[in-house]
Amino acid sequence: MKVLVLGSGGREHAFAWKIAQSNKLEKLYVAPGNAGTAEIAENVNINPNDFEKVKSFVLDKEINMVIVGPEDPLVNGIHDFFLEDAELSKIAVIGPEKAAAQMEGSKDFAKDFMARHQIPTAQYKSITSENLEEGYQFLESLKAPYVLKADGLAAGKGVLIIDNLDEAKQSLKEMIGGMFGAASATVVIEEFLSGIELSVFVLTDGKNYKVLAEAKDYKRIGEGDTGLNTGGMGAISPVHFANKEFMTKVEERIIKPTIEGFQKDKTPFVGFVFIGLMKVENDPFVIEYNVRMGDPETEVVLPRIKSDFLDLMVAVADKKLEQFELELDERTVSTVMLVSGGYPEAYEKGKVISGLDQVSESIVFHAGTTNNNNEVVTNGGRVIAVSSYGENLANALEKSFSNAEKIQFEGKYYRKDIGFDLQ
Ligand code: AMP
Repeated sequence: MKVLVLGSGGREHAFAWKIAQSNKLEKLYVAPGNAGTAEIAENVNINPNDFEKVKSFVLDKEINMVIVGPEDPLVNGIHDFFLEDAELSKIAVIGPEKAAAQMEGSKDFAKDFMARHQIPTAQYKSITSENLEEGYQFLESLKAPYVLKADGLAAGKGVLIIDNLDEAKQSLKEMIGGMFGAASATVVIEEFLSGIELSVFVLTDGKNYKVLAEAKDYKRIGEGDTGLNTGGMGAISPVHFANKEFMTKVEERIIKPTIEGFQKDKTPFVGFVFIGLMKVENDPFVIEYNVRMGDPETEVVLPRIKSDFLDLMVAVADKKLEQFELELDERTVSTVMLVSGGYPEAYEKGKVISGLDQVSESIVFHAGTTNNNNEVVTNGGRVIAVSSYGENLANALEKSFSNAEKIQFEGKYYRKDIGFDLQ
């Protein structure tokens, strides 16, 4: 098979790493990729949102399958673009069509979906400039803290959690007034759920599904979960508090109605469903849906898949997932993200990365890296994810941390407390 992966992060390097192990693979391309993907695939300088360029490339290279990493091309309708084009319609695309991608593109749509299909989630109300007063009243009916979410994609920054009612009202008004541009013209106000978070990753062909694994990620920049939100500073899988009883509830109350919901709504979903959950006491509630794998969760979930990844992707594309025997690795996988100094605020790029050849017993997934004059240099906020297998969590983390020390670049920072809350 000739495969094109779209994206350039640690997630896409992890996809490329797993795909490169398949004996079904004839040729692998990543667009635009990074210095890590360049070692195992051919990088192509194409923006995944430039559908016409993707089309020419796919036809020119006779690609059989396109795996979409990030959400933007999906929300922008790349799958629909392929289906509507006579020359492209036979090519497999892993990722939902635009209608189902709204599950991530619009929080209001996702909340409406959950209400329609009786999926447990926080109480909510969607507010625009038309019904601002109702928004204030709804806030008054809730207990602090108050959760305000921009409806549209806001680069992971569109959620505010505010302790004070007056401030929450003020922020609601400012969000609707354009704090996050058009993304917050509609704001979803939510009841605050108190519990522990985790994410569950599900692969579906539209009808059948497989639960890939659950994972926990660490979003804040500072140790002890303090400071600004980031794209993710580390992750682990499995998550011990997601025991069998809890995961059965997740499957019965959330996964099944979600997959059936896509069918009932006639919004086909072929690809990865990322379900962000809050475990409140012993019950799961949905915090959010994403329509693609998470980053850095992919760097712990894919290493836990033992099955051939292209066989798995073909089963999805052919809608024969029920016949697929998914084999998972029982071991724990941890990942620790090395980031540029200053991230998630301003940071410098172009710092030379050394010590990559010193790493042993871990997998190095590149995120923001590029090649410059035969050197690997930093090219983003999140630079490298160090993933490790362990017989237990402590053992996996020990390897990730010791290898995180061996990789050097000016300004390098990483959290030394990934997974510590779960030990
Ligand atoms: P989201 O983008 O919807 O995942 O929200 C970002 C983060 O805000 C989540 O990962 C949670 O930590 C937090 N959050 C979102 N919604 C709620 C809620 N209803 N109750 C408590 N925390 C929430």
